[in-house]
Amino acid sequence: MLDCEIKNGWTQFLEFIENRCSSAEFENWIAPIRLVEGSHEEVILEVPNVFVQEYLLDNFKEVLCNFLPLRGSGEPAIRFLIMTEAKAEVPAAVAAPAEETSPQTLKLNTLYVFDNFIEGPSNQFVKSAALGVAARPGKSYNPLFIHGGVGLGKTHLLHSIGHYVCEHHKKLRIQSITTEAFINDIVDHLRNKSIDKMKRFYRNLDVLLVDDIQFLQNRLNFEEEFCNTFETLLNQGKQIVITSDKPPGQLKLSERMVARMEWGLVAHMGVPDLETRVAIIKHKSERRGLNIPNQIAFYIAEHIYNNVRQIEGAINRLSAHSRLLSTQLNEEIVEKILSEMFQSSAPNQKISVEEILKSVATVFEVRISEIKGESRHKEIALARQVAMYLAKELIDDSLMKIASSFGGKTHSTLLHAWKKITDQIQINETLRRQVQMVRRNIET
Ligand code: ADP
Ligand code: MG
Repeated sequence: MLDCEIKNGWTQFLEFIENRCSSAEFENWIAPIRLVEGSHEEVILEVPNVFVQEYLLDNFKEVLCNFLPLRGSGEPAIRFLIMTEAKAEVPAAVAAPAEETSPQTLKLNTLYVFDNFIEGPSNQFVKSAALGVAARPGKSYNPLFIHGGVGLGKTHLLHSIGHYVCEHHKKLRIQSITTEAFINDIVDHLRNKSIDKMKRFYRNLDVLLVDDIQFLQNRLNFEEEFCNTFETLLNQGKQIVITSDKPPGQLKLSERMVARMEWGLVAHMGVPDLETRVAIIKHKSERRGLNIPNQIAFYIAEHIYNNVRQIEGAINRLSAHSRLLSTQLNEEIVEKILSEMFQSSAPNQKISVEEILKSVATVFEVRISEIKGESRHKEIALARQVAMYLAKELIDDSLMKIASSFGGKTHSTLLHAWKKITDQIQINETLRRQVQMVRRNIET
């Protein structure tokens, strides 16, 4: 699988190099290199011989770091295939990555560890739940079900649990698998008539980490096998952790499966708030050796707000450009470089407080005038806090100005409300659904 962003990174790298070496050098050494596969974990380059590989690393390792994903050690995450070897190996790798289908190997992204995970109000709860599970597998929350939008760190936390267990509970048998890979595994073993062996493998695990369970929807035949495996493990007190883009109740899966998944703890991974996004930007850019001044970090965080993976993409681009131009970054340059990204991630900019009030009033069955008023009646106060929470989340304006649209409240009242709702939706499923409903009404 060739990720589009990786492909772009590689093309940008080639352009960068082409301007920096003679055309003969480029033709001899760089042009023959072919990008075979690339994900955010590893890039596979096909080279005609080992000398080309050495040439590339000796001369351009540092530059490569700016365009391609990195390993935990800070080295570019490249695997080389020598041409003849490549010919034989590539088709197999594309059809079915050998490591992925073999249940014995544990594949964890080396960068996805607890230490690299930046905390904020939106993810503190789920992170502590993950830490709890990692510290005492099978003894705290079981299963742990983590759900939330794309690019918010679900896989990161899942793999963090994996690393922690490997390090601290060396004797435990653990497997981390995507739902797709699990299904492929079943298909392969059915074909090879070795399904019992596979069942034994999974049912003998102590910790099973399952990523992206939403891909099990509409796969009726596989759901049963999943469910049986889950039940066997849960009944023996073995730990299961599941991630999903939706809460269990919203997945199109059997009642039995949903019930199993709701058995333990269901934790929501929210969109990080501004300060957390800034902290993430600082952390990621420092790792890349890029100095992003606070003001610029805030500027980026204000414009890319619903996907941490996009934030990473932005940092990669800035890092490449700042090397290329050897200039200090300022808002103007940043805007120019990231303009496309900003547009695609800023669909909410036109939302007004009035729209939010209208939607909250409908869902919570109160009047707009009551939300704007002073009443401390429980239902009204809750609706008011939800409206304030959403206004802070969705409107790109100063807190003071937003607060004043609520019948002249102060910005500290707004912040207090935002904090309270942020905490509440982590633990209160009904409230979370109501907030989602309000959001959907506004956004459509
Ligand atoms: P998801 O599985 O929810 O789609 P990922 O776990 O793949 O998201 O995260 C996307 C990228 O963003 C990863 O590179 C991850 O390291 C990074 N990321 C997400 N949240 C955080 C965080 N809180 N701190 C640091 N990095 C994060
Ligand atoms: Mg994921």
